[in-house]
Amino acid sequence: MPVCYDLHSHTNASDGSLTPTELVQHATRCGVSQLAVTDHDTTAGVAEASAAAVACGIELIAGVEISVTWRRHTLHIVGLNVDPRNRSLQQGLLGLQSLRQYRGSRIAARLARRGLDVTHRVAELAGAAAPARSHFARALSEAGLVRDPQRAFRRWLAAGRPAYVSTNWAGLADAVNWIARAGGVAVLAHPARYRLTLSKRRQLLREFKQLGGRGIEVVSANNDSAQIRTMAAAAEEFELLASCGSDYHGPHQHWVTLGRLRPLPRTLAPVWTAWS
Ligand code: AMP
Ligand code: MN
Ligand code: MN
Ligand code: MN
Repeated sequence: MPVCYDLHSHTNASDGSLTPTELVQHATRCGVSQLAVTDHDTTAGVAEASAAAVACGIELIAGVEISVTWRRHTLHIVGLNVDPRNRSLQQGLLGLQSLRQYRGSRIAARLARRGLDVTHRVAELAGAAAPARSHFARALSEAGLVRDPQRAFRRWLAAGRPAYVSTNWAGLADAVNWIARAGGVAVLAHPARYRLTLSKRRQLLREFKQLGGRGIEVVSANNDSAQIRTMAAAAEEFELLASCGSDYHGPHQHWVTLGRLRPLPRTLAPVWTAWS
């Protein structure tokens, strides 16, 4: 079987729609041979995913996607090849889980005040997971209160919109440290998605590197070749390992497929050289 890495994916332990077992089975069908499960602020899906990966004969890389606030920007730091049993990591994630619960209740209240009562459905959709904005987006869209989840973000949930609740997530140094203590590699997720000026992004990368950050997602789903070139140049300048991941959330996002990513530029050191 040819080697195929997808190092960013979600299960229903956060805002993905597949169970860890379903995700791993689907990844296998898609030809992924090395899959990282990187749920938002939790590793709760990793144990089940690992067992499923053994059954499917693929490699499961334990991961997490940590929500970070850096100079008023929300960033995502992916931790790859972490030990989910690590105490520092789990303590940090516990704090983020309770922030999510608190923020979720405030988002629900803001929507309810405007006659949009999705509290019950969000709880159902989230199940055992801490609520994410994507659960709200799905609930609003299902109830016919917006045309699709994208519009729920645009109208209600995105920064500056009426149901947005700004949250002080983990510090960048904290996130990098938790990942490092858990033996993992800290990777800046989907760098093209942040609204950062060029100079801000360079400041971020410099700081990230100084704090012990080791990688950057050079290839994510729907990146065009210009974005890939930009991030490849950033990886070279800041001597960061290159990662690739689809950020798969489930079949409802029919425009994203597991493992179908453009190849990493050959001049870069792939992030998996850090553990394999
Ligand atoms: P949260 O971490 O709870 O604020 O939710 C962030 C998640 O919502 C992301 O991981 C995406 O899955 C999803 N998301 C964020 N912004 C958008 C958007 N504009 N359209 C669709 N999904 C989004
Ligand atoms: Mn998500
Ligand atoms: Mn993300
Ligand atoms: Mn993600």
